[in-house]
Amino acid sequence: MAIDIDNNNKILIIQPDDQTRSMLVEIFKENDFDVLEARDGAEGFAKANNQPDISVVLTDLTMPRIDGWEFLKTKKDNEFLKDVPVVIYANLISREDKQAALDAGAQDFIAKGAASPAEIVQKVARAMQQGEYDLQVDPYALDAQQFIEDFHLNSNFQCTNCGSPLAVRIKAYKGKDLTAKIVCPNCGKEYL
Ligand SMILES: [Zn+2]
Repeated sequence: MAIDIDNNNKILIIQPDDQTRSMLVEIFKENDFDVLEARDGAEGFAKANNQPDISVVLTDLTMPRIDGWEFLKTKKDNEFLKDVPVVIYANLISREDKQAALDAGAQDFIAKGAASPAEIVQKVARAMQQGEYDLQVDPYALDAQQFIEDFHLNSNFQCTNCGSPLAVRIKAYKGKDLTAKIVCPNCGKEYL
């Protein structure tokens, strides 16, 4: 799985400390993310309202009103966030608490102050790609030619941009809600 962070990715950063939040916002803006920011879980949910295209959430654990634990629990029922991966960015906690955060649905954990900006972006990008698989298609097997014709794709199922074989990119968040796209795994062009 290639780390591909140059598409339009939208990140929701939830962080009560102004200075830390500004630092994170800047890092992700520099890496071409659209950034939504919030001071706690409650504001995070408010900011996510009517935003169906959030790619990832980066949140602290200790926060007023709705903390990170409550956020993880509540987001499962939130129509805009339920399938969005969450990375925790928090003070170093015990191994048990870290495991509890992962068990509660977080994809990864970054300890405050322990990761460089590049490492933070890498971890977040990796979390966004969990549950994403690029599968190759035989363009002459089963219904492939019918599919290619119906959706006006190149008959060899190749990228019109770079000539590489296209792939079916399926995303299955924790094995549920499978979605599919046709993409070029080489140049990143999206078809359907
Ligand atoms: Zn291509």
